[in-house]
Amino acid sequence: METSRASRPCICPNCGKEYICPEGQGRPAFFPFCCERCQWIDLGKWLTGQYRISEDLPPGDAQDEKK
Ligand SMILES: [Zn+2]
Repeated sequence: METSRASRPCICPNCGKEYICPEGQGRPAFFPFCCERCQWIDLGKWLTGQYRISEDLPPGDAQDEKK
């Protein structure tokens, strides 16, 4: 029986996407979100006081997979 404690499936609080997140120190900086973009989106919700998706994403992180 194998128990992989290195990582486990998590649900992104922003987009609800399921992803594999490492535990402990291996966690990404944008934990518990699936990606940095989701972290910024969620942060923007709180900053604007409106819990909705904001289109005002900060520049520099626009290199998304748009193909
Ligand atoms: Zn997400």
